[in-house]
Amino acid sequence: MAYHWSPDSWRSKRARQMPTYADRGALERTEHGLKSRLPLVSIAETRRLKSQLARVAAGEAYLLQGGDCAESFSECDAECLRATVATLMQMSAALTLGALAPVVKIGRLAGQFAKPRSEATEVRDGVELPSYRGDIVNDAAFSQDARDADPSRMLAAYAQSASTMNLVRSLSQSALADFTRMGASAWDAGRGDPDPVGARLSETAAFMSAAGLIAGPGLQMGMSDIYSSHDAVLLNYEEAMTRFDAESGDWYDASAHMLWIGERTRDPAEAHVEYLRGVGNPIGLKCSAALGGDELLKLIDILNPANEPGRLTLIVRMGAGAIEARLPALVRTVRSEGRAVVWASDPMHGNTIKLSNGMKTRPFDAVFAEASRFFEVLWSEGAHPGGLHLEMTGKDVTECTGGRRGVTEAMVPERYHTACDPRLNGSQSLELAIGVADQIKA
Ligand code: PEP
Ligand code: MN
Repeated sequence: MAYHWSPDSWRSKRARQMPTYADRGALERTEHGLKSRLPLVSIAETRRLKSQLARVAAGEAYLLQGGDCAESFSECDAECLRATVATLMQMSAALTLGALAPVVKIGRLAGQFAKPRSEATEVRDGVELPSYRGDIVNDAAFSQDARDADPSRMLAAYAQSASTMNLVRSLSQSALADFTRMGASAWDAGRGDPDPVGARLSETAAFMSAAGLIAGPGLQMGMSDIYSSHDAVLLNYEEAMTRFDAESGDWYDASAHMLWIGERTRDPAEAHVEYLRGVGNPIGLKCSAALGGDELLKLIDILNPANEPGRLTLIVRMGAGAIEARLPALVRTVRSEGRAVVWASDPMHGNTIKLSNGMKTRPFDAVFAEASRFFEVLWSEGAHPGGLHLEMTGKDVTECTGGRRGVTEAMVPERYHTACDPRLNGSQSLELAIGVADQIKA
């Protein structure tokens, strides 16, 4: 870019989806405190992820990105994290088996705390308060005190991200080791009923162990890596976590390996695009059905001017009903202009519906249909369908309807634990991965 970038150059642009902090002094003290904290991820790891994503862009590998819609301070326990890491590992194994290609794994975790909201305020019984914007900003309880933006929450989010990353590093190693022991019977015992998914998992485990993929220590390292990512909404936090790498002369956001720009903050003239264009991390860009080809090319020019493979992942979230009409033209535009990108499918955000009780859900069939159409469109356009971006958990929640175990609309309130949007449960996540793996194999 011809014009100057600095970690705070976003401040001169319009910044959407950001809270107003009443106590500027407290905000500045927090930012100052974060600037002297250790990085949450190393620059070497971040670069390694970028080179692995370059292999996805080249059509030699797949991406699996998944985790909570929003992490929370109160709903954070080791068992939950263990189940999510194990599920990501199982999904990745299923995809490897179908595609016979490596799978790059990225969690929506260790920093996924800030949420863009469609309304700035929320009204209940005639009382209007600021919207909940994620635990890094305010509290979900409906009171003025809870909804005031509190800068010290950024320090709490930093601390929780550090301990989450620490546990993920350890869990991902043992999840892979456990995989050899986990046959159909273990899977079924854990779930309490027989499931065709279990048989498929045994087959996968047997294949991986026969191929030496689990036993080889060198390969095990690469196979078990789970990188971190989040929506870079709260720029005060991201700026304060930005570090200079003297070796390359580049800046990196040390709050996560990968950052993405949400659908509501991707205006090319505004603050979020300005901040992310200047850091060396791999970045993602959400693409809805409303995004046109010219706007997309403009964003690619700003975010990846050197056309570096692995730098930019386009995360398509158009909805099962719109993807076949909208996606082909975008893929054609990007291809004909010779832009190296990873194409990924977020089949969650375009398929949200509201139940009569007011709860948000997503039907598994619509989620699967969008993912499946994504693969078909990319193949028919001669491009590589790079992978999946999911809101999911390893736990047996009932937030999304459908799937083999048939979560009905009436069951949705039973185990609805998400801090924001509805997630696929462990079984639905695996079912999706296996369905996609079968599609790739066919
Ligand atoms: C999200 O990924 O949680 C999100 C808010 O997505 P989008 O910006 O695509 O709506
Ligand atoms: Mn979401």
